[in-house]
Amino acid sequence: MPIRRLPSHLVDRIAAGEVVERPAAAVKELVENALDAGAFRIRVALEGGGLCRILVEDDGCGMGPEDLVLAVERHATSKLAGEDLFAITTFGFRGEALAALGAVARLTLESRARGGEGWAVVVDHGGPPVLRPAALAPGTRVVVEGLFARVPARAKFLKSERTEVAAVVDAVRRLALAHPGVAFQLTHDGRLLLDAPAERAGGIAALHARATALIPGSADMVPVDAAREGLVLGGLAGLPAAARSTTEQQYLFVNRRPVRDRALAGALKGAYRDRLPADRHPAAILFLELPADAVDVNVHPGKAEVRFRDPAAVRALLVSGVRQALHAAGVGPPASSSGALADAFRPVDLPAPAGVAEPGLGFDPVAGRPIPPHPPAVVPPPPVPGRPLGVARAQIARAYIVAEAEDGLVLVDQHAAHERLVLEAMRRARQTGAAAQALLEPVLVELAADRVETLAAAAEELAALGLIVEPFGPGAVAVRAVPAALGAVDARALVLDVADELEAGSGAASLAARLERVMATIACHGSVRAGRTLSLAEMDALLRQMEAEPMSATCNHGRPTAIKLSRADLEQLFHRR
Ligand code: ADP
Ligand code: MG
Repeated sequence: MPIRRLPSHLVDRIAAGEVVERPAAAVKELVENALDAGAFRIRVALEGGGLCRILVEDDGCGMGPEDLVLAVERHATSKLAGEDLFAITTFGFRGEALAALGAVARLTLESRARGGEGWAVVVDHGGPPVLRPAALAPGTRVVVEGLFARVPARAKFLKSERTEVAAVVDAVRRLALAHPGVAFQLTHDGRLLLDAPAERAGGIAALHARATALIPGSADMVPVDAAREGLVLGGLAGLPAAARSTTEQQYLFVNRRPVRDRALAGALKGAYRDRLPADRHPAAILFLELPADAVDVNVHPGKAEVRFRDPAAVRALLVSGVRQALHAAGVGPPASSSGALADAFRPVDLPAPAGVAEPGLGFDPVAGRPIPPHPPAVVPPPPVPGRPLGVARAQIARAYIVAEAEDGLVLVDQHAAHERLVLEAMRRARQTGAAAQALLEPVLVELAADRVETLAAAAEELAALGLIVEPFGPGAVAVRAVPAALGAVDARALVLDVADELEAGSGAASLAARLERVMATIACHGSVRAGRTLSLAEMDALLRQMEAEPMSATCNHGRPTAIKLSRADLEQLFHRR
């Protein structure tokens, strides 16, 4: 076949697919333009998941008629003064977004500079720009209609309307976090999904207020403020207790640009390493500021990834900055668990007795008098043969059960074991439906509007697992029942985690894989969490359930749930053999 040049409208359409691959990408570009134009108020209105119509309106500097026509041309930008690609301080600079939207949709750009007249330019699916006068307040209004309507190949890749809207909410939320002084509003089909008034205060107070408006539960995050070698880190870090099962609550910015960067996410994980298990993720809203020439933001067309000149310095600042913040807030790391296991069994040093007392049974050396004979209130039953986990004797650190088996000492991680039992029970009950335990009073849980939609969409699947939730207005759900296998749980924490998990798994994962993850999340909320005091009867019941469920020998993450020190081990530890 002879080589031919592609017609320019096709070139534009191909390029456009890379810049705006979904409605959220279009919204992000348009909102960034509004921020670059110095807007104080930005309104986004979607219809039909953004595919029917996207409107972004701002009160920024606006454009005159000549600039309007230039703005929709490819590679036309007002944001690159010289030729220095490395000194970029605005969001734009490629001059591609508006041209791209004009190629894959019907684009109407109305604008009015202060003191000038209003004008509109319309580009219909790559056609010639048509200019006409328009009536509007100073600022810019962009309308994108029929996005991808003529690019079926692209439209096919889009997820459900709900997922696309959730991605838009996420994109706007990220930009809104970085600009607390700007008012943001987002609606979908007339429903208000996000509403953040302009914050008057500055600095960390403004961020705190903005975060509280946008992210339920962010009120008790702690301020981060650190600097070294020209790098500055600021923002808010979540308490370990508020960690979640996904990284959805992490908002990272480089020079106020939202990024999803593995190196930064990894550093954040490092900062919490000794405060959180590997499968829990802290909330964080962190801003890294560094000289424009110390970072390349031009790596990715969507500009979500960055390349640092000195990644090690960035990591070091993030880890130490966040640790300092947690430390200052009194969130210390738990006692060290280093050292070989053998070292863990150390001979106990006893303090020398204050008085000289006659050693002997029935004599209290401290009080210096005989102990009156006194039978124990309850005579513990002897260990029973055929019960490998033995009889519960005590609980340690409100986390471990100590049991006496016929042949040794057993330690059980109560939370890990219970979690596994609940997961297995739910797996079995999936066909028949798990038992639900109705709450005496429904628990109202406030959460972001997109999460409410996520939960509502999965309500049937959740009900089959015993979790019954229903929307309660745009910003809350009512929890009516929780899976009976969990016992008494914190319904609010449970629902927040499940919503996160659903959101994170909303991608290509099969329904079965998604359910599996949701079940694991639910199981983690069982009432027998670490930190709960258990009665001997409760502990025994758990041991018997474990014996009946062979899978419970390991937790949902593959770690053992029970360990045994045989009698022989004990004898060796005491040098009896
Ligand atoms: P870029 O933002 O990379 O420059 P765009 O295609 O997004 O490219 O926009 C092209 C130009 O149109 C911008 O450089 C800017 O001058 C102008 N422009 C776009 N949106 C707005 C807006 N909301 N207000 C004022 N000017 C705008
Ligand atoms: Mg732009």
